[in-house]
Amino acid sequence: MSDQTLHKKDNVKQIAHIGIAVKNLEEALPFYRDVLQMELEAIEEVDSEKVKVAFLKVGETHLELLEPLDESSPIQSFINKRGEGIHHIALEVDNIEKRLADMRENGIKLINEQAKDGAGDAKIAFLHPKSTNGVLYELCEYKKGSDI
Ligand code: ZN
Repeated sequence: MSDQTLHKKDNVKQIAHIGIAVKNLEEALPFYRDVLQMELEAIEEVDSEKVKVAFLKVGETHLELLEPLDESSPIQSFINKRGEGIHHIALEVDNIEKRLADMRENGIKLINEQAKDGAGDAKIAFLHPKSTNGVLYELCEYKKGSDI
């Protein structure tokens, strides 16, 4: 392993997905599947976020369409305030707990102080846009063997 590799081992691995808020998944899907011709990989409900999500494969990454399941969903508040559209960018990382601890130490505002269960069997945590130039970032750490 070169020095270069050692220094870079904790880099963000890739953009895991880009989250897009939609009012209704069934109504949004035909555009992505049939017009843009993206492959629908999975649909699942994420209780912790009160959303139903659809993952569409785009090369090595994904789009994540998010439909709110009820009024208390953060996605519903987003749609109420700003309408449908790009909601967050998810970055795949290793050692999410360590990263969160480092960020807390450095005064980065976090929406989730601890990682929680997200879609695709991942541990996730959102960073506060006040600390990220206005972008809502999600950190994702996938368990070994997960394929999303
Ligand atoms: Zn996401």
